[in-house]
Amino acid sequence: MADIIDGKAFAAKIRAEVKEDADKLITQKQVDPCLAVVLVGENPASKVYVGQKSKMAAECNIKTKDFKLDVSTDQETLLKLIDELNNDSSVHGILVQLPLPEQIDERKVIDTIVVEKDVDGFHAINAGRLSIGGAMLKQAFIPCTPLGSLLLLKDKVDDLKGKNAVVIGRSNIVGKPMSQLLIEESCTVTVVHSKTKNIEHVCAQADIIVAAIGRAEMIDANWLKEGAVVIDVGINRIPVTKEDGSEGSKIVGDVDFESASAKASMITPVPGGVGPMTIACLLRNTVTSAYRHAGLDDPRSL
Ligand code: NDP
Repeated sequence: MADIIDGKAFAAKIRAEVKEDADKLITQKQVDPCLAVVLVGENPASKVYVGQKSKMAAECNIKTKDFKLDVSTDQETLLKLIDELNNDSSVHGILVQLPLPEQIDERKVIDTIVVEKDVDGFHAINAGRLSIGGAMLKQAFIPCTPLGSLLLLKDKVDDLKGKNAVVIGRSNIVGKPMSQLLIEESCTVTVVHSKTKNIEHVCAQADIIVAAIGRAEMIDANWLKEGAVVIDVGINRIPVTKEDGSEGSKIVGDVDFESASAKASMITPVPGGVGPMTIACLLRNTVTSAYRHAGLDDPRSL
């Protein structure tokens, strides 16, 4: 049976480090790290997520400024708010919760955030820095979910060099940046997606699998090499019938946990794996930004 990678516990450790770094900045430089969180509309999942971010930020002594805009907000109004936050020296990180309503061009919004406050790491310049790697990576903000996944891997796998890694999914938020981080760690990286032929066969060669697909429990033991390390990024809500016969739902990953854990050596559960790491890494990026704005070196390295 696979060892379970406890993302919840590891995220708590990261948040404790973030708090320690924030406290140092507050006492030694009188700078309060601050994250601006912008939510447009009433998407229930986004509201929960934004609420969690603000609560955990407070626990780490990071201030937050919350902006809740109506679902009908036009692009110009949102861009004006971002411009104000770009110019507000008390704000070190700007997070615009995605998805945005359809009248707003997401890419335009992301690239309007000044790159030095783009703690989500989605700005084209941050994506470019990650892609170039090396010294450039040290100036970048790395997207939080891939960063969290990599930190979990580095904690568990002694030496990533030369390992065969397969990333399933090629989104700008998870798959692509994850593949670039693994290249930077000298893994041999293959990215597969919905058009990949013989995908199971490709995955079965992998020492490390990162699944970021959005398809409930798609990956089972047949996709895995014996002893593979499995990082399940997926968050999928599926219907279940409860013991009393009523209809409910539960969250599962992209990996069939029961089947895969019989063959993998290590695996992240869903929930409790990558999910908690995402918010922890957002807070980590915010404090890093506050250090950079104060002219200091990053408090933590990769
Ligand atoms: P996207 O929908 O943007 O990307 C999904 C990727 O999976 C695409 O590249 C797509 O291929 C590929 N894909 C879809 N179906 C298949 C298939 N049948 N076989 C192979 N590849 C397939 O999703 P995200 O990257 O944003 O998110 C992925 C998952 O991670 C979701 O479940 C999401 O909820 C979760 N997530 C979790 C986070 C966390 O904090 N833990 C944060 C962000 C996301 P193609 O490009 O060809 O269409």
